[in-house]
Amino acid sequence: NVTPNDLSAFWMPFTANRQFKKAPRMFVGAKDMHYTTSDGRKVLDGTAGLWCVNAGHCRPKIVEAIQEQAAELDYAPAFQMGHPKAFELANALVSFAPQGLDHVLYTNSGSESVETALKVALAYHKVKGDAGRFRLIGRERGYHGVNFGGISVGGIVTNRKMFGTLLTGVDHMPHTHTPGKNQFTRGEREAGGEDLASELERIVTLHDASTIAAVIVEPVAGSTGVLIPPKGYLKKLREITKKHGILLIFDEVITGFGRLGTPFAADYFGVTPDILVTAKGLTNGVIPMGAVLVSSEIHDAFMQGPEHVIEFMHGYTYSGNPIASAAGLATLETYKDEGLLTRGAELAPYWADALHSLKGLPHVIDIRNLGLIGAIELEPIAGQPTKRAFSAFVKAFETGILIRTTGDIIAMSPPLIISKAQIDELIGTLGSILKTLE
Ligand code: PMP
Repeated sequence: NVTPNDLSAFWMPFTANRQFKKAPRMFVGAKDMHYTTSDGRKVLDGTAGLWCVNAGHCRPKIVEAIQEQAAELDYAPAFQMGHPKAFELANALVSFAPQGLDHVLYTNSGSESVETALKVALAYHKVKGDAGRFRLIGRERGYHGVNFGGISVGGIVTNRKMFGTLLTGVDHMPHTHTPGKNQFTRGEREAGGEDLASELERIVTLHDASTIAAVIVEPVAGSTGVLIPPKGYLKKLREITKKHGILLIFDEVITGFGRLGTPFAADYFGVTPDILVTAKGLTNGVIPMGAVLVSSEIHDAFMQGPEHVIEFMHGYTYSGNPIASAAGLATLETYKDEGLLTRGAELAPYWADALHSLKGLPHVIDIRNLGLIGAIELEPIAGQPTKRAFSAFVKAFETGILIRTTGDIIAMSPPLIISKAQIDELIGTLGSILKTLE
């Protein structure tokens, strides 16, 4: 068992991680829906790791694909040279991506996918001869990873405040019309989406459309507490961006690969962006990898000039590397073989009923769900805005379920292989814990 000394070299910067060092929660194994802890307990994974292990843990097909690839061709660059699996994976991805998103750029994480998408958007306007479009628009409470572009368009003050000017030329759409209200929660989201999206028109008027390159949003924000947009919001954003020649980017790092019961959130909401950002579930969380899907129109704009290609200096050493590509292919095959990209739709009513059975428990002020994602928002203790949910998290872990918290919101996103009995166990256990919270 670990001593505090064993934990000193690894810098874990968040407050919650400092708490961890006082009471380590160590995983030493995992299989399907469960983790095994260092003290030999099984913990039901209610969060798919960090929203990524969509097919469940240590799936043999994915493990074997990685092992075989590592033995056969460990590393090869996927630019200037190539290897078959990077091409196969790109084809497999576009085969079920929203129509029109036909080209793939590889990255190694969600944060890198976001940076890639923002750079593609800016470069696209340049190659089209529309160099005046330099502004990027995000949204309050948006989360787009931790790199500079991502925190600039992101809307979380704690992630931004230490880093100076960040990217310039960035603006943010509001999260709500009414101070004190949150239009993504508490029954407010049944209507008003079009109105809220129309705030983009105000920003366009302020800066002029000819200066705006792209708008980036998470279709459903995960990390900031499972924030589901009010009805009509995304459709209206699409309408406004199209009208003004602004690119629309969906950050589907969490919502991609079946989380909402459709392959992508774009399918769920019936709104196709120009650029779609993925990571996490692409390789079932097993190997770091991300992919950015772009429309033919964007891709083709770069295919000009005497060599039929404009230099777009962007790529990573590990972009589309063989082992990640093999893991991605095996993951997509697993999703397909087991129907996981739509399983969330089959389970959604059961999941919704289970979550809403917690209504009326002490401190519960909102319950949100879509597909196989869900959140329970708790009334914060005055002056201690994270304490109540964090105490639920610690008790849950000790009782044998893994949940996630952000502020006083408990978020859940189980692997898509979860059974109904396991949903009962997850939500039943959470319910008994909520009853004991101060
Ligand atoms: N975008 C979204 C919507 C995310 O949820 C995350 C991670 N939670 C990221 C980007 C960043 O991904 P990564 O941690 O792989 O860099």
